[in-house]
Formats: sequence, C-alpha cells, structure tokens
Amino acid sequence: MDRQQEFVLRTLEERDIRFVRLWFTDVLGYLKSVAVAPAELEAAFTEGIGFDGSAIEGFARVHEADMLAQPDPSTFQVLPWRNEPHGTARMYCDILMPDGSPSYADPRHVLKRQLSKASDLGFSFYTHPEIEFYLLRNKPGPGELPEPNDDGGYFDHTPHNSAYDFRRNAIMMLENMGISVEFSHHEGGPGQQEIDLRYADALTTADNIMTFRHVMKEVALEEGVYATFMPKPFTEYPGSGMHTHMSLFEGERNAFYEPGAEYHLSKIGRSFIGGLLAHSAEISAVCSQWVNSYKRLWHNAAASAGAGGEAPAYVCWGHNNRSALVRVPMYKPDKGNSSRIEFRALDSACNPYLAYAVILAAGLKGIEEGYELPPGSEDDVWALTPAERRALGIQPLPQSLDEGIRAMERSELVAETLGAHVFDYFLRNKREEWQEYRRQVTPFELQRYLPIL
Ligand code: GLU
Ligand code: MG
Ligand code: MG
Repeated sequence: MDRQQEFVLRTLEERDIRFVRLWFTDVLGYLKSVAVAPAELEAAFTEGIGFDGSAIEGFARVHEADMLAQPDPSTFQVLPWRNEPHGTARMYCDILMPDGSPSYADPRHVLKRQLSKASDLGFSFYTHPEIEFYLLRNKPGPGELPEPNDDGGYFDHTPHNSAYDFRRNAIMMLENMGISVEFSHHEGGPGQQEIDLRYADALTTADNIMTFRHVMKEVALEEGVYATFMPKPFTEYPGSGMHTHMSLFEGERNAFYEPGAEYHLSKIGRSFIGGLLAHSAEISAVCSQWVNSYKRLWHNAAASAGAGGEAPAYVCWGHNNRSALVRVPMYKPDKGNSSRIEFRALDSACNPYLAYAVILAAGLKGIEEGYELPPGSEDDVWALTPAERRALGIQPLPQSLDEGIRAMERSELVAETLGAHVFDYFLRNKREEWQEYRRQVTPFELQRYLPIL
C-alpha cells in the first residue's frame, strides 16, 4: 500500500467516515457512483471493486460485462454536504478489465492515454474552463417550459437570496472540496451563471468539472432551485458554453510563449491552433455532443440581441474576436507563463475527458505536422455575408449533430484518440439520438404549417 492510500485509510478512521463513494464517468459524461464501506477499501486499492459494466452506457458488451473500479487515492475528498453525523467521502476511479488492464471504455483512461502521448513529446496540458449554466425556478415537468430563477444580465449583481447567494454557497462548497475558483459572475441570460475554475492539469480539470456539475445540482437542490447544463434551454437567450483556456508546458516553461512574436505566441502555439482549426469539424460531435448543442452554435444578427450569445459558428481564430472559434486572449507580456488560447466550441454538457482528449489530439497533430496558421480574423464573422466569409476561406462549424457525426465518422484522428470501442459506441449512440430527433414533428412545424397548409 502506498502513502496516499494509507493517508486515505487513516483519514477515514480519524474522521469517522462510514461511506466512500467511488465515482467514474460513462461514455456520455454521466457521473456514476458506487458506495463502499471503508473496510472494503484496501481491497479496492489493490484489486478494484467488481461491478457489472453492461449496465453502464458504453462500457461493455454483455459477454464481457465484469469490470473493476479502482479508486485513485490522489482524488480523495470528504463531501462537505454529507458531513454529519458520519461523513461521506469520494474518490474517482480508473476502470479495469478483469485481467487488471485498463478498460478501453473508460473516458478517464482515454484522456490519460492522450496525456501520455503529449508527455512523450515533452508536453503537459493545462486547462481552465469557464463553465456556464442556468438556474431555473424548478425542474420542469414533461411539457413544461423552463423558468429562469432571476432576471439578471451580464455581470449584474442580483438581490439577496438569488444568484449571488447561490454562487457564494456553491463556491464555498467547491473550495471546501479543494477546487479553486478564479472568477464568477452572472452571465448574459436571465438565471444564467458562470463560474471559472483555476488552471490545472487537464485530468484534474476534467475530474473537477464532473465534481462541479454534481455540486451545482446539490447546492441548487438545497436552495429549492434547479441547475441545468443543457446547452441551449431557451430559444431567446444565449446558450451555456464551456470555453476552455489551454496551454502546453515544457517543464516549467509555457510552450505557447515567445517574447516578441506576434501576440507573443510561439510556433508551437500557432501550430496547436492550426490543429484545432483543421480538425474542428471532426471533433465537433465530441465537444458538442447533443442535438441541442447545435442550437447554441448559431447566431443570427437579426434575432434578438445575444440569442447566439457569442458562441462560435465559424472555423477561424482571432486575437480579441469573441465570435471566433479560437481566441488568443490579451495577457501582459511580462506574464509569459500565462500565455494561453481559448477554445470556444465546447458546451457545459460534454464529456470533459473525451473532449479534452480530442482537443489535445488535434492540437498535437498541428504541432507534429507543423500546420501553418491561417490569417486571423478580427472582424465579427457573424456580421459578414456568406460570400465575404467564402472569400476569406472561413468554413462553418457543423450545424447539426448529424453533420458533426458525419465529420467524425471519417476522422482517423478521433478514431485513434477515442479507441475503436468508444469511437464505435459513441457514433452508434449519437446516430440513434439524431434519428429519434429527426422523427419528431415539432411545435415549430405545427405552428408554422397547420394554419397555412
Ligand atoms: N454563452 C456563450 C457561449 O455559449 C459565451 C458567452 C461568453 O463569451 O462568455 O459560448
Ligand atoms: Mg461566459
Ligand atoms: Mg470566454
């Protein structure tokens, strides 16, 4: 038993913790949990805890259903909302096959594999997500419309007992769990919030995002409201994105930083962006994985202000261009280690392990193949006409889950990154989702056509 494992066992005893939840994530990004008694933990660390993988989305075909969950002691955390009288703690798990090898279906493993490819090239990958979500008055029943919990807007300070209190309680809870928050504010839509997590290595960030979504739901429940990460719950208000700032480090050095270069962006940084742009269509179905995700990645300048809400719809990059897919934010040149780029396609309902894996793969491909960065676009790409965009060589992002799936199906990069099992499962599942959606006759059609046709 190693020191971290011993620390976990000692803490359980000292703090009289009676339940340990073992957390992991299925292929679609849902958090799964199995509770074990502390007495089981020693065995869990050495051999893993057996469970039926066939019951978990995307994990196993039935004939190979036995799987093991092996807790990662470095993720041990006492849950602050289950404190008395006997506490509960949690750890994230790696999923193993019965022979002890890593499960090819485990999203955490998919990301770890990609991180180790980066590390073979000398890089570690750091991320900082800006997570947006809506607070609703309550969880809408079938057929009910969502009702925002407040009528605040961008950066508004709303009155007591609403968004401000929620964010304060939520952030305290996150900090109690060792997750540092950098910024938080009211976002553009009524009831819409944003909380930004501090920079961390991508695996920690992905774990933190899973914890974050769970904590927001818990705090909302305590306050009698409902938190949703649905990418676009309202036609008339902006969607909820999860813009992610990212950088590669070579040891202590930020590999995106080059003093004196344009925007202080190194060749490595430029090629990384080149990779993101070149492969953005292929990775779209992973970064924006639901039918609803594509209602966010849309903008109509003629519609009410902010309907698309600065979500990207075109494949381009810019220095301070909030309509671009990739943005190189301003930073003080003396702060070279904070050089970073912002990728804006992700939404808050993605599987963060898979999304960070394909993003990293696209960026590394750009570096390995020395992709050139096309000219940046400082114009508001939404305001250009289709002909102007064509003249500039600016392609649209996939405009539906269907287009995203088609681009992914042809992608060697995504197949290789996810591995055959996750790749096939994901595509199959998403095709079913699209077919089910396609079959629907929607309120839009009834309202539009019945009176006139
Ligand atoms: N809500 C926007 C999106 O879905 C982002 C707004 C912002 O720039 O923070 O991407
Ligand atoms: Mg925002
Ligand atoms: Mg942003």
